[in-house]
Amino acid sequence: MKQEDIPVIQLKPGKESSLRRSHPWVFSGAIASVNQMPQPGQWVKVVDAQGRFLGAGHYHEGSIAVRILSFKDVEIDIDFWIDRLSRSWNSRQALHLNEEGKNTIFRWVHGEGDGLPGLIMDVYDQTVVIQPHTLGMYNEAAIIAEAIGKVAPQIQTIYLKPSEKQMEAQAQYLKGSPSNAIAFEHGLKYNIDWERGQKTGFFIDQRENRRLLGELSKDKKVLNTFCYSGGFSLTALQGGAAHVDSLDSSQHALDLTLQNVTLNGFDESKHAVIKADAVEYIKTVGSDYDIIVLDPPAFAKHLSAKHKAVQGYRKINEAAIRKIKSGGLIFTFSCSQAVDKDTFKGAIVAAAIDAGRQVKILHQLHQPADHPISLFHPEGEYLKGLVLEVI
Ligand code: SAH
Repeated sequence: MKQEDIPVIQLKPGKESSLRRSHPWVFSGAIASVNQMPQPGQWVKVVDAQGRFLGAGHYHEGSIAVRILSFKDVEIDIDFWIDRLSRSWNSRQALHLNEEGKNTIFRWVHGEGDGLPGLIMDVYDQTVVIQPHTLGMYNEAAIIAEAIGKVAPQIQTIYLKPSEKQMEAQAQYLKGSPSNAIAFEHGLKYNIDWERGQKTGFFIDQRENRRLLGELSKDKKVLNTFCYSGGFSLTALQGGAAHVDSLDSSQHALDLTLQNVTLNGFDESKHAVIKADAVEYIKTVGSDYDIIVLDPPAFAKHLSAKHKAVQGYRKINEAAIRKIKSGGLIFTFSCSQAVDKDTFKGAIVAAAIDAGRQVKILHQLHQPADHPISLFHPEGEYLKGLVLEVI
């Protein structure tokens, strides 16, 4: 589209201040007028009440009307995408996240954290999975794939996997075809199922926390609840755990975990899978686990579900605090963006009081560097965790 054909959205007086601070969202209530009605997903320019340029981004119907992708008035063409993708690619290279045989699983683009609201891009060795969370980003898939070819020509496969929000959109290969899905994290091999798996196929955000578990697992008996494809189980085994039980309510998740345990040649007699509801199962166990990992799915996807989510965290943590061996550790997480760090900690305090045990915080955990948080978009902080020692 030619620059002059891009619809222009004018804000009400005073509503430009968050954009001037580089917060990338324009709420619908801030809009005074439009010179032509944009289509959902279309590029728009946003100007202040005096007509001065503020930013350009994707328009959608809903409370977030515009997600800004550029605070500069530049042409949005292939060079724009190459520039943006190469910046975050270089940042990941500098973090040593792309090293053959050691680590080839990383997040290339993390939405607002990388200045590209609505876009997630994950790398699994030679494959990139593009996950657009907005129609606007979905519409950019072809040009993004072209830019990937320029920035990382070694990428053999590009899989477009729209998020659940885009029911009508089709997942498809934009480059290559279903291919070898083995990728590395901490020197461990993982078989990544980006087609049928959750999210883009793997929970990349727990990389650093898995490493810490591995360091503390020697000779320990570990229960990894909500195991999905077994990330925490594998680092525990790598760290010399005496035994690991991997629990999930999904058989597909347990199958992935078993595949990954086998793929790495671990002693299968030291590992078992359990198909169960996590809370119900923990209530039935004795007190012989040295370490319990609690990494549930987001209990609160929206602010409205926050209260229920907090109760959920309280319940599951209380069960684990009651059952963990004396001196044992609990790795407990929340990935609900709507539940902030302090609220999560509050739920754990309540759980410890109900369980009637002494509990210390040894580590405070968070999302890794390839899931960056823009200083101007604090909403991007979502993963928090605690390592608790229970006396
Ligand atoms: N810890 C994992 C990611 C967890 S994702 C990792 O490191 O990769 C959340 C997982 O919880 C999913 O696999 C889902 O199947 C499982 N799950 C959801 N509800 C559950 C429940 N009530 N009991 C046990 N598992 C559950």
